[in-house]
Amino acid sequence: MYDIAVIPGDGIGKEVMDATLQVLDALDIKFNYKEARAGEKCFRRTGTTIPDETIQIAKDCDASLFGAVTSIRSQKSAIITLRKELDLYANLRPVKSYPGVKSIFKDLDFIIVRENTEGLYSGIEKETEGGATATRIITTKASERICKFAFEYAKENGRNRVSAVHKANVLKKTDGLFKDTFYNVAEGYDGIETNDFYVDATAMFFITKPQMFDVIVTTNLYGDILSDEGAGLVGGLGLIPSANIGKNNGLFEPVHGSAPDIAGKNIANPSAMILSAVMMLDYLKEHDAARKVENALMKVLSERKVVTCDCGGSATTMEMALEVKSKIESK
Ligand code: ATP
Ligand code: MG
Repeated sequence: MYDIAVIPGDGIGKEVMDATLQVLDALDIKFNYKEARAGEKCFRRTGTTIPDETIQIAKDCDASLFGAVTSIRSQKSAIITLRKELDLYANLRPVKSYPGVKSIFKDLDFIIVRENTEGLYSGIEKETEGGATATRIITTKASERICKFAFEYAKENGRNRVSAVHKANVLKKTDGLFKDTFYNVAEGYDGIETNDFYVDATAMFFITKPQMFDVIVTTNLYGDILSDEGAGLVGGLGLIPSANIGKNNGLFEPVHGSAPDIAGKNIANPSAMILSAVMMLDYLKEHDAARKVENALMKVLSERKVVTCDCGGSATTMEMALEVKSKIESK
């Protein structure tokens, strides 16, 4: 029995969340859902995009499922606040190709581990005479923590190569520190191959030979950019999940946003949210259940019969999810 915070949010967030909970219902695991509010609708009702109660529920639960929120320019971001409050320092974005899904490469399966708390996202930006500066913070502590996370992830998930991505030839102090820390941490992990690449070269290798990657660990902005490039390699927003993980909490969300253009139409692809739930199951060490859901989704995608319009079908969000559910149940 797990306590799961469910934060549907706005737009298609609620649609893909409802669909995903249906899929989880097919498993022999008991989930105790605690629904919590965040986002634009929540702001209109409560005056805040992220109530303290929501943060508390997310902290107290074993894991959180997060749909998507529409951002309001004048208000603080619900998801960024949650990442901070729960100290979710690792952002995981798998780059995996699925059968039946149009993608540039058919045989990809690697994961990007992005440092989520510092780097160019330090929030320190100021205007100076004649321009502006942003401060990029790289600490030994955060670098060590994220590199250890990447190696532990590799060990636990049977992946045997970890690559550090940086630009230490130009950013000698900051990225130099990140690279050195990576190799220091690596000493504690015999049997895992290590190497490192410049971020510009990595961007090229994503296009020319992405099969060379297994686990990538990198700083905040490089991770941000490379994960979108990775998403482009394997079929677009409707398919890509993510995990935000800290010492005591994990929060799982699709990479897409609230997609106001298709909200309310019941045509959003639920796959990214379902795969986020798969990442949650792996986080909870429910690996068998995770594979069950993932394999059922893979079947539905490769059959291409009951899929949403972005995958060439005409199914609704819920119809596609129920098809996944039936494939789990018929095992
Ligand atoms: P937000 O500001 O909340 O991020 P957005 O307008 O940027 O909203 P996204 O959710 O980021 O929209 O998605 C960009 C586009 O990708 C959408 O306009 C939508 O058409 C498409 N899209 C996103 N998610 C899905 C999905 N799950 N299924 C199908 N199409 C999607
Ligand atoms: Mg968006």
